[in-house]
Amino acid sequence: MSAEEKILELVDVYKTFDDLTVLKGCNLRVKKKETVVLIGPSGSGKSTLLRCINLLEPPSKGSVVFEGHEVSGDLRGADKLRRDIGMVFQNFELFQHLSAVENIMLAPMKVLGMSKADAHDLGLELLRKVHIPERADHFPDELSGGQQQRVAIARALAMRPKIMLYDEPTSALDPEMIREVLDVMTELSNEGMTTVCVTHEMGFARRAADRIVFMEDGCILEDAATEEFFGGRANERAQKFLSQIL
Ligand code: ADP
Ligand code: MG
Repeated sequence: MSAEEKILELVDVYKTFDDLTVLKGCNLRVKKKETVVLIGPSGSGKSTLLRCINLLEPPSKGSVVFEGHEVSGDLRGADKLRRDIGMVFQNFELFQHLSAVENIMLAPMKVLGMSKADAHDLGLELLRKVHIPERADHFPDELSGGQQQRVAIARALAMRPKIMLYDEPTSALDPEMIREVLDVMTELSNEGMTTVCVTHEMGFARRAADRIVFMEDGCILEDAATEEFFGGRANERAQKFLSQIL
């Protein structure tokens, strides 16, 4: 992988909480425009790994390299890094007192100094992108879970991120709403948004992922092209996990 192509690299990343070592030397490279799906049992360290990427959890050892620069050495750069990295959580985490469009407008106005009118235009454009422009003036508690998660995606996109991270974005949704969220994520991935996604939605993984990474007990045990992974060439533990969730 050339330096040009590579946008993100984790090098021998460890994370320890008190005396619990949760990440045990993880290495991961992500190319521009690539979509990587991260799977593994509960407690294996997937969320922690994602949070290390944008330094919500600084690694205890090892480094995070973003666009060729080590960003884990000096946490003063973390705010800037997080502007370039959009993150979407299981529970949406929208601001309840703001409407859908206001949720999207907040960061561009506060962080980028965008005018209210421009931020509103951007908000509407992004709500069109996630297929709910008619919901602009609704508050989170007036939206379905699937709509709230699409607002959360639009809010992350408002900062024009270079990577999107998703942590089980459909796990809290009723089954009938999962598809509308995965469809938006697939569209973004197809448009070339670099993506790292923790999910157990294997249909999405097959459709959208270039690579599947399997974690267990703080280690990356498999990192394979999607067709190889699903073509029966994943290692034994990954196969066993797959058979349990499919
Ligand atoms: P996954 O997302 O794969 O379910 P996590 O990364 O959430 O796994 O958690 C991995 C392990 O790290 C778990 O044992 C969890 O309890 C522990 N852990 C995660 N965050 C913290 C924290 N802030 N403090 C202490 N332990 C944590
Ligand atoms: Mg998790």
